Amino acid sequence: MTNHLMTTYLSLPVSFERGEGIYVWDEDGNQYLDALCGISVTNLGHTHPQVTAAITEQAGRILHTSNIYHIKNQSILADLLCEHSGMQQVFFSNSGAEANEAAIKLARLFGHQQEIDKPEIVVMQNSFHGRTMATLSATGNRKVQAGFEPLVSGFVRAPYNDIAALQAIADNNRNVVAVMLEPVQGEGGINIPDPGYLAAVRKICDQNNWLLMLDEIQSGMARSGKMFAFQHADIIPDVLTIAKALGNGIPVGACLASGKAAGVFKPGNHGSTFGGNPFACYVAQAVVRSISEQDLAANATARGEQLVTYLRQQLADIDAVTEIRNLGLLVGISLDRNCGELVGIALEHKLLINVTAGNVIRLLPPLIIDEQQTLDLADRLIRSIQQFIQD
Ligand SMILES: *Cc1c(COP(=O)(O)O)cnc(C)c1O
Repeated sequence: MTNHLMTTYLSLPVSFERGEGIYVWDEDGNQYLDALCGISVTNLGHTHPQVTAAITEQAGRILHTSNIYHIKNQSILADLLCEHSGMQQVFFSNSGAEANEAAIKLARLFGHQQEIDKPEIVVMQNSFHGRTMATLSATGNRKVQAGFEPLVSGFVRAPYNDIAALQAIADNNRNVVAVMLEPVQGEGGINIPDPGYLAAVRKICDQNNWLLMLDEIQSGMARSGKMFAFQHADIIPDVLTIAKALGNGIPVGACLASGKAAGVFKPGNHGSTFGGNPFACYVAQAVVRSISEQDLAANATARGEQLVTYLRQQLADIDAVTEIRNLGLLVGISLDRNCGELVGIALEHKLLINVTAGNVIRLLPPLIIDEQQTLDLADRLIRSIQQFIQD
């Protein structure tokens, strides 16, 4: 293979040509069960009929105009997203990192509007917010930052799921204007906070006039068993960022605002050439409607429960497996050792999975998966883990 690609990825030597539902096929016609969805992107499975129809319909109409003009598909999608989230306003981007950039800019502008000259944003240990300069600076992983110093300033780090630590920052730092966190940490290892955590963070934000900014780029779009993971708690954020599954493979992201975050951006403060184009916004409408019409949040809850119950039974006598946890179909399996090799072993068992944080198997299967397919997924994974332990 000649290679003129920048060496940013250590790709596995397999290339997929075609997909349908929960399956993909490689160049030699081998079928694989996709339990990763391109990292929670193809939540509706591959070539979902309603999404494919939306793509072809809009491709035959118009792809791009400009944000100089009104874009009707943007307004319709914004209405849909606000209806499902309880948020009030939407800015459209092309990716997750760009959605978070919008959130970070919004928080700084909010701070300056309160006459805080050096606004700071609290971010969490083990977080992941993207690969642009501001979002990698917000990310709580040295590997993502190393070599790219000087980092963007204005971030304060706190331990995740630790209300006392957040309160201590509130007591000592007058420059904080916002807290940005993932309701479930994805890249950080499927870390699920205690049930009262989000409500307690919300309370500290209210007491200190901070914005609560939730990064649901991975946990959103019904994956957690609710359209948005924050809906498991009785709260609403000020800022919500989404991307990944919003387009089921078509690049589109969004930064949503409500309450005191709504109205912060004024004309000229932010923008994007591609962001919110008629094509992406039409496809995303079909995605949101399909998720809600098929009640995939409920299926994520049921299949998530089925999957972890079965895995806990079947993996009970493997000591290397230390914990199995989930929120809907965000599933993490911790091992007592690094297990990156498992990705290749699972591939031999015709299963697509991922390992994150070194020792956590991450499963992000399509939300359309049925009961039988869930057992099939689990059995392929169990065989892969058994082989890994024996090797
Ligand atoms: C994937 C991800 C991002 C970055 O999204 P990109 O589209 O890759 O820029 C940000 N935050 C979280 C939680 C993610 O999972």
